[in-house]
Amino acid sequence: MVQSSILGFPRMGKLRDLKKATEAYWGGKLSADELLAEGKRLRLEHWKIQKAAGVDIIPSNDFAYYDQVLDHIQMFGAVPERYSKHNLSTLDEYFAMGRGHQKDGVDVQSLEMVKWFDSNYHYVKPTLQDNQTFKLNADPKAVRHYLEAKEAGINTRPVILGPVSFLHLGKADRGQSVDPISLLDKLLPVYEELLKKLKQAGAETVQIDEPVLVFDLPSKTRNAFKPAYEKLTALQGNSGPQLVLATYFGDIVHNFDTVDAALKNLHGLHVDLVRHPEQLGPVIEHLGPNQILSAGVVDGRNIWKTNFKNAIELIETAVQKLGKDRVIVATSSSLLHTPHTLESEKNLDAEVRDWFSFAVEKATEVAILAKAVTEGPASVREQLEANAKSMQARASSKRTNNPEVKKRQQAVTKEMYSRKHEFPARYEQQKKHLNLPIFPTTTIGSFPQTKDIRVARNKFTKGEITAQEYEKFIEKEIRDSIAIQDELQLDVYVHGEPERNDMVQYFGERLDGYVFTTHAWVQSYGSRCVRPPIVVGDISRPGPMTVKESKYAVSVSKKPMKGMLTGPITCLRWSFPRDDVHQSVQAEQLALALRDEVVDLEEAGVLVIQVDEPALREGLPLRAGAEREKYLSWAVDSFKLSTAGVQDSTQIHSHFCYSEFQDFFHAIAALDADVLSIENSKSDAKLLKVFIDEAYPRHIGPGVYDIHSPRVPGEQEIKDRIEEMLKYLKPEQLWINPDCGLKTRGWDETKKSLTNMVQAAQYYRQKY
Ligand code: GLN
Ligand code: ZN
Repeated sequence: MVQSSILGFPRMGKLRDLKKATEAYWGGKLSADELLAEGKRLRLEHWKIQKAAGVDIIPSNDFAYYDQVLDHIQMFGAVPERYSKHNLSTLDEYFAMGRGHQKDGVDVQSLEMVKWFDSNYHYVKPTLQDNQTFKLNADPKAVRHYLEAKEAGINTRPVILGPVSFLHLGKADRGQSVDPISLLDKLLPVYEELLKKLKQAGAETVQIDEPVLVFDLPSKTRNAFKPAYEKLTALQGNSGPQLVLATYFGDIVHNFDTVDAALKNLHGLHVDLVRHPEQLGPVIEHLGPNQILSAGVVDGRNIWKTNFKNAIELIETAVQKLGKDRVIVATSSSLLHTPHTLESEKNLDAEVRDWFSFAVEKATEVAILAKAVTEGPASVREQLEANAKSMQARASSKRTNNPEVKKRQQAVTKEMYSRKHEFPARYEQQKKHLNLPIFPTTTIGSFPQTKDIRVARNKFTKGEITAQEYEKFIEKEIRDSIAIQDELQLDVYVHGEPERNDMVQYFGERLDGYVFTTHAWVQSYGSRCVRPPIVVGDISRPGPMTVKESKYAVSVSKKPMKGMLTGPITCLRWSFPRDDVHQSVQAEQLALALRDEVVDLEEAGVLVIQVDEPALREGLPLRAGAEREKYLSWAVDSFKLSTAGVQDSTQIHSHFCYSEFQDFFHAIAALDADVLSIENSKSDAKLLKVFIDEAYPRHIGPGVYDIHSPRVPGEQEIKDRIEEMLKYLKPEQLWINPDCGLKTRGWDETKKSLTNMVQAAQYYRQKY
């Protein structure tokens, strides 16, 4: 029979229970035992949900209190000494690595955390030493959780991160020079021991994730698969469990030369057929005569109902070649990236609700699909019919199709992507209009979101104050922030974004084509969750979104005002996009909506307009080459389309929260923004070298101080930073600004930091 399988389940619980419990523990309001008990309760609840849905292969060890990679760091005894030396409890040592620890005389920063592939989840990087050793915990978590499920009568398939991915995703610790992959020989015995223990505990099969197989890999990493999997597969059927190797978020065909030799003895292979359905044929060809295929056909990254007809076609193709016993129907990846359950959504309108499927519902989907293929469509006729009806309804809904939007997209011309003249001519105009000194100072947009602001917004949302009262409140906030900017003597002002809850949601709420949820939270890192808005249909702008506030700000300030918008790619990446039209089409719709906003701002007297695109880089396809270039081309086009409608005299800025542009500098240059502000205070100023090397002609504001900490940078420190920047940039190119928006900061440190920043700028103004 065709079995159903889930690669991982979200951990937070229905009401973000895990977030609440961990934060209560950190705040001293919950004991360690209470937190552990809550974790146990959630695991059991999630196993039961999957069992009740009829899923055959249920994962364990997918649960983590902070992050699953961090679990492995601890389970393998790869804890750097700066954490282990304090004799903290296992739990506190774990959180110390995840989020730092500053208590009872212990003061350590967290380990580095970075994006998990191209998702919005962040994992803790294994951080390794030159003399690194590994040792399996006496009571390894993977075994403990397997037994916990077994005791509850649920037989699970433990999930572990494979050794090659664990090392490839890691890095050498500060001051160390070890190449992580060179540690493989030392690490493998730990995996052998862990697999044996799992087998002893009763686990017949283990899911071993090697997602790095979707990358272009350096040869050292590629060559590591053979020795690793010769060892681990040798245990199968004797002292170790059968291994199903899982890959996701990409295709593995380009790594077949590696997979072939190294993985030929594996019990099975999981591939992501949502992202890359075309890999099905080649993957089937490459399977050995008895190997199992786990076909990832239910999207683990999105909230859309699975199209049963399409999924069944894919599975049937596999079944015809391999037979029913060699095919598993699975989620494409872990469901970690989807919200918990649709059941919590009480305010969604019935029409769109019918199109969605969150983790709990997706569990049912894999079970139905497996049954449909095992017992024939008649066994689940009702479900198949309902699904077809839902697909049909969505495809023909007025909410998905807006002919006006399509007409407008068809009318886009080549000229609409370009400013009227090149930068030098534009700059002449802008100089006249803006009259700025050299080393102009500005901020990135948001000012501290104070308690007052949150309270007022809350009252307004609940209807406790009127729209007019709220507007008056926002106006006062704007006036106050302008008075502060006067005092600070900044050069280009911002209104401070007091009216914005979030840089994407705020725009989504003002655009047609979006819907919002109340409980659809997804873990971003640790206890932090985000609730992305959902793009359901063609996007358009019913009316101005930010003009009122910016116009008001212009009317009460004597210096140039900068208008702030979130760019098309960031709006798209930080939402759940549609899966029925290409993302480039959605980006173009967003770009057209923003283009109108940009022109309206210009008409309202806003002569500097910043379009933030911090998410541009994270959308980069995981492999270099044609796919990446294609993405960059439509991403750049969408930015240009959104900004090129203005006069030469209007200055377009863009902002990025990083400075690692080496891999795609040509795209950053192609944006043709008059000014770029970028994160730089935590990065090496050398990264700015690319701007000289490529003879970048326009202006740049590399952040002169870090906004993530309340620490106030001294004037000299900022001057030193500027001095360093001047090694790479011409004085007339340089803007002086912080790294990013100040919304998470308090006013006290903000004023002090900006005072020092302005003084440093004034010093250089005198000097040049
Ligand atoms: N304009 C936004 C702000 O200042 C930019 C935030 C960001 O880049 N993440 O908050
Ligand atoms: Zn930023």
